[in-house]
Amino acid sequence: KVIMNTSLMKELADVAKDVALQQGILMRIQETPNSSELVTYAPFTLFPTPVPKAVFLQALAVQTHYNTLVDKISQDPDFLEEALASTIAVDDFTGRLFRIHQQILKEGRSQSIVLGLNRSDYMLDQRNNGLSSLKQIEINTFAASFGGLSSRTPDVHRQILKMAGRLEESQRILDNDPAAGLARAVAKAWELYGSERAVVMFLVEESQRNIFDQRYIEYELWKRNIPTKRKRFDDVCEKGSLDQDKRLFVDGQEVAVVYFRNGYMPQNYPSEKTWEARLMMERSLAVKCPDISTHLAGTKKVQQVLAKPGVLEKFFPDKPQVVEQIRATFAGLYTLDIGPEGDKTVAMALAAPDQFVLKPQREGGGNNIYGSEICQVLQGVKESTERTAYILMDKIHPAPVQNCLLRRDAPLQISNCLSELGVFGVYVRQGKDTVMNDCVGHLLRTKSSEHSDGGVAAGVAVLDNPLLV
Ligand code: ADP
Ligand code: MG
Repeated sequence: KVIMNTSLMKELADVAKDVALQQGILMRIQETPNSSELVTYAPFTLFPTPVPKAVFLQALAVQTHYNTLVDKISQDPDFLEEALASTIAVDDFTGRLFRIHQQILKEGRSQSIVLGLNRSDYMLDQRNNGLSSLKQIEINTFAASFGGLSSRTPDVHRQILKMAGRLEESQRILDNDPAAGLARAVAKAWELYGSERAVVMFLVEESQRNIFDQRYIEYELWKRNIPTKRKRFDDVCEKGSLDQDKRLFVDGQEVAVVYFRNGYMPQNYPSEKTWEARLMMERSLAVKCPDISTHLAGTKKVQQVLAKPGVLEKFFPDKPQVVEQIRATFAGLYTLDIGPEGDKTVAMALAAPDQFVLKPQREGGGNNIYGSEICQVLQGVKESTERTAYILMDKIHPAPVQNCLLRRDAPLQISNCLSELGVFGVYVRQGKDTVMNDCVGHLLRTKSSEHSDGGVAAGVAVLDNPLLV
């Protein structure tokens, strides 16, 4: 189905880009990632994507339970140790994180305030009966992005739909403001920390192309007169220290909250000094978002273990409805641990690789393995413990929708697209008291169906809005 003629599409695309720039849907350009002299619009779709209302509401409704689940996992060292045992034996990065976690447990946590900013991602699996079912891709407990920019995209699609003569639809584009909700939780953690001069430190990447997304959260904090600072690992290495009460100081300033927007990939830790900086922050009195155990709770191995029979029940012993609500969003997830169950997984994947995704313990897009490459990789590792660095997952098949992806220097063309719905959740806990647990907004990302993997930062997916149907 062709959406419309080319000249109208060109006209709408030009307007869409102007609206995006004027709304502040911005990204620094690849050539100068650390300067705002030249910026472009963050890539987005020309049109919103239809999403069934029931499934959308289902995703929002389960979010606070996911928050609770992540938080409970982070407080269960025995579970984490057992779940991650086979993985940390072969995956150095996860192993290194786990060692920090163990050291913190041994020393005792110095801070009882916990701040969680999560994004649970889903795709809508197409069923034979024409209905779609909500399936979780993963939950991000570390540096979940686009809560800022996604608060600005609704106005772009409203404008475009109006200009395309689709007034009724334009009125159905939902408001969305994850940045405000994320900031509300950070502000609460800062307040509980209880020192007016202490800052919220954004621990940011070397290359800061996506700075504007983060700025929205910074501004929300400044509105509350909460000071923020942007620092890199190097700054913490060179100018960070703990005082005798384990208060964290960076460049002479006390840090109340460390908000990690960097530190989830092995290459974020180029030197031993960087690891030491991470450990110092974890040991400190500052509230960490996330703390090391919550970081581990977000690994793909934990996701797979949660899908085993009886595991969710352990975390919600007297709440069968919550268990049911969470489990309904699970896709098939399979262990590659050594033993008959893992052997079965290997055989299943080799027999039908197109039905699965093979996932290592990595974040940030572009790491998963698909199709015939699954066979190549598994043939290489299937007889050794190396295979336990991966998990296997059912491949989700969303219905493709035609759209036009707007991206700097890309030709204007219609392609078959697949979408992924993210839901933002926040929580704050102090000791045993849950002070906040909310669902604070959504994110729709869309990519061409030619790509099996990759997010917005990876240059594959673009920002979108759901049009509830
Ligand atoms: P990352 O931590 O790199 O974001 P994800 O598990 O989110 O890892 O996978 C990255 C991308 O791969 C997703 O955004 C999605 O496009 C695709 N993907 C992941 N899992 C599946 C799946 N089970 N079925 C279909 N596509 C998937
Ligand atoms: Mg992802």
